[in-house]
Amino acid sequence: ILEIRNLHKRFGAVEVLKGIDCSMKQGDVVCVIGSSGSGKTTMLRCINMLEDFDDGSIRIDNQDIGYETRDGVRRRKNEKEIAKQRALTGMAFQQFNLFPHMTATENIMLGLVKVKNMRRDEAHSIAEKWLDRVGLLERRDYYPGQLSGGQQQRVAIARAIAMSPKLMLFDEVTSALDPELVNEVLLVIKDLAREGMTMLLVTHEMRFAFEVSTRVIFMNQGRIGEEGDPREMFLKPKTERLAEFLKSST
Ligand code: ATP
Repeated sequence: ILEIRNLHKRFGAVEVLKGIDCSMKQGDVVCVIGSSGSGKTTMLRCINMLEDFDDGSIRIDNQDIGYETRDGVRRRKNEKEIAKQRALTGMAFQQFNLFPHMTATENIMLGLVKVKNMRRDEAHSIAEKWLDRVGLLERRDYYPGQLSGGQQQRVAIARAIAMSPKLMLFDEVTSALDPELVNEVLLVIKDLAREGMTMLLVTHEMRFAFEVSTRVIFMNQGRIGEEGDPREMFLKPKTERLAEFLKSST
């Protein structure tokens, strides 16, 4: 469902992604780990074109994301097309980015009505279905300010998934939460994983990565340092770099 080939990204003179190759099948749950600044977030942002990239290709569902090459010339697609492709993925961020003046239900309905042109009653019932799934149906009429961080994050995840993306991207979704709220969000994600949702997650939660992922990617200085089965990676790291990283993060 996802094919990344030779992905390069620079910010000015600094090359942040130095040739990433990665592929995912339907139902894969891939956790990306690695030290701060290794390029994890940037890779995620390239996948949904929140960042342009300089070279290589990203394909989702056999569509080239962001760029097309014609007669050997690489061109950025137009904004309308990029916006359309962005709907192939759903993203949840460290900061939840809910609209503060809208209730939980309205936050989820917005994209369904505005982007998917869904009828309000239909959008409403989908919103309620997903609020129920993340355990927040009773709070459907609450505003973000009336919800805890963990609850807001669950609404944000429900909002992204309600759009039925092919691939969910999670960028350190528990990093801004108080420790006692982390678990409720991780449980929601585990539940989605169990149901076969295809997910790519950047996380600092090593135990979670170990438990939930079908594969782990260790990013190191803009490259994939090591990649494989979570058990192998965590229990028998092949590279010194990964061994050091795991030691420092437990
Ligand atoms: P963290 O775990 O701290 O979030 P990360 O592995 O996700 O780190 P990125 O956020 O992808 O790392 O950042 C990779 C590098 O790119 C960092 O050195 C960062 O300073 C740089 N960088 C990221 N965004 C920008 C930007 N908009 N402009 C310039 N440099 C940037």
